[in-house]
Amino acid sequence: MTHRICPNCDGHASVAITLGGRDTHGHLRTITAHCPACHGTGTRPARTREGARA
Ligand SMILES: [Zn+2]
Repeated sequence: MTHRICPNCDGHASVAITLGGRDTHGHLRTITAHCPACHGTGTRPARTREGARA
């Protein structure tokens, strides 16, 4: 195993977040948040050791 699931996003690097409003087309407004820890990959190299960040 060369990669581990990113502990920051638990593998869900890209998630659509509903902003609670609707745009002019009547669609729900959502934004896509990319995990800053794994840069949207959902995994982190096993050899990479990162300090604990709260
Ligand atoms: Zn991540």
